[in-house]
Amino acid sequence: MIRRLCIIGVGLIGGSLARALRRHADRPEIVGASRNAAHLQKALELGVIDRFETDLGKAVAGADLVMVCVPLGAMEKVFAQIRDHLAPDAVLTDVGSAKACVVEAARRVFGTVPPFLVPGHPIAGTEQSGVEASFAELYEGRRVILTPLAETAAAATSRVREVWEAAGATVSEMSIEHHDTVLAATSHLPHVLAFTLVDSLACLGDHDEIFAYAAGGFRDFTRIASSDPVMWRDICLANGEAIVAMLERFGADLEGMKTAIRDGDGETLLARFQAAKQARDAFSE
Ligand code: NAP
Repeated sequence: MIRRLCIIGVGLIGGSLARALRRHADRPEIVGASRNAAHLQKALELGVIDRFETDLGKAVAGADLVMVCVPLGAMEKVFAQIRDHLAPDAVLTDVGSAKACVVEAARRVFGTVPPFLVPGHPIAGTEQSGVEASFAELYEGRRVILTPLAETAAAATSRVREVWEAAGATVSEMSIEHHDTVLAATSHLPHVLAFTLVDSLACLGDHDEIFAYAAGGFRDFTRIASSDPVMWRDICLANGEAIVAMLERFGADLEGMKTAIRDGDGETLLARFQAAKQARDAFSE
């Protein structure tokens, strides 16, 4: 296990990793960092971190691993703040929900893709934000995707893999392009749909009545529309091309559904609903 871990952004994702690692006997020292001392003080009081810094340069000093857990739009600024302060053998990783944009941000700051950078993404989370929402079990049995590049040092990838496995996750590797395409379909599209549905209904004149009579189905379908708007703006801007491609495909399917309903085409509706149920049931199993 590493000796010192610096977590920049001690919110849901960073805080949950810290909590998971603190259960280990040979846990590393965990230094938290972000912009707001009050948030970090809270993390300290909750026993999530050992100490904190709001100066990111000071925070990363002497850390074997620096885990950047901030919204995608803040990655480049954070890289620039820590660039000249990383320990010579430090490994740098992140948890951003899209990966090409993180590598581009690193390239702009470091001038090249550093061999010590291991882009990563835990496929786990909730619609809550902040350290108060973090919990040690978040990564148990969940997947973490690492997207090392040709430039990435194998030892750096191993160090990041080890930390996620210590938190209970199963680690897999894939290319950045594949990651961003797959996640556009499985995570980014559903979030865009949930936000749009709730916003669309909220803009209807009689929305109070609509929400008053909304039942379990609405609650299940729209839970993720309570997620952090800043985080989701950043994800849509960062992975726009892949998300737009999915939206276009989905739009065509939705158009087909509208036509079937308008035409009273029960056969098509039943076929589509049966196929969807079968796929959803298989996924649940
Ligand atoms: P969060 O709970 O809001 O935490 C974000 C943290 O980033 C906060 O502690 C914030 O602290 C810090 N921060 C924001 N801007 C900063 C800056 N410029 N410099 C330093 N610190 C900054 O968000 P989260 O859900 O943990 O998400 C963090 C990352 O994980 C995002 O990149 C997201 O794409 C990714 N992710 C999220 C999920 C999910 O389901 N939530 C799942 C997988 C991956 P201060 O306000 O104190 O600065």
